[in-house]
Amino acid sequence: MEGSKRNSTVSSPPDGGGGSGIGRAVCQRLASEGASVVVADISEESANETLGSLPTDLRGQVHLAAAVDVSSKESVKKLVTSIQTHYFQPPSVCVNAAGITQDDFLLNMEEEQFDRVIQVNLKGSFLVTQAVAQALVACGAPKGSIITLGSIVGKVGNLGQVNYAASKAGVEGLTRTAAKELSRFGIRCNCVLPGFISTPMTEKVPEKVINKMMSLVPLGRIGEPAEVADVCAFLASDDSRYITGVSIEVTGGLFIG
Ligand code: NAD
Repeated sequence: MEGSKRNSTVSSPPDGGGGSGIGRAVCQRLASEGASVVVADISEESANETLGSLPTDLRGQVHLAAAVDVSSKESVKKLVTSIQTHYFQPPSVCVNAAGITQDDFLLNMEEEQFDRVIQVNLKGSFLVTQAVAQALVACGAPKGSIITLGSIVGKVGNLGQVNYAASKAGVEGLTRTAAKELSRFGIRCNCVLPGFISTPMTEKVPEKVINKMMSLVPLGRIGEPAEVADVCAFLASDDSRYITGVSIEVTGGLFIG
């Protein structure tokens, strides 16, 4: 597949959650670098909207949109198989951006709310990371870069998000462990920890809470999806070739102590 402008091989990254917010920005950024991008999302309509926004003028790029439920092993396997059928190789870059919230205080949270958030955010990251890594190892690919989306909330906790915070702390542990196990195959695994980013996910947050949060951000503003995508592009590229197993905070300085 094509190399990017940065002389990396960011080819056909499947972006779980690519239909919206940060995932969409990642797809746009990697496509602008010359990658062929597979936009994967549980909402096929959203994935297609992202697909329609991608540049295609560079080096014969071929982008695809696909429906996937990252919490289903069968669905994830089907996605990776169909990518290999289309591109004759597994993706060299994978960004796990699918995620959900189902907020409630610990005292009120239903078991189903806890389970669903863990299934999508944590189990989904496991299934996608495992399927992509298995495909890369099986075909003897020389290198790969797998990027997960954690959250600063996984480190510091957040009122009403016991399920989400637990899932994101788990994503960091998963990523560090995957980095240790997969480095001998040339596969790097890193986690990005956004703070407060302007996406449909944060549109649900009451204005009062947003204003309070903003007063705690040293850089004094909410982040943009493109600012998280920039860090993902760095981790996808050879510019980060000696970096694995790390978590990078993209928070405007929120909670730096
Ligand atoms: P978003 O809601 O805009 O996008 C999430 C996408 O995931 C949606 O397109 C949705 O359809 C998709 N999705 C949901 N369930 C899925 C499933 N089972 N299978 C496949 N796709 C599924 O959210 P966002 O703000 O862009 O968040 C992206 C990632 O960044 C998430 O993991 C989120 O937890 C994390 N994050 C976001 C923020 C923030 O402030 N926005 C902060 C920290 C971490």
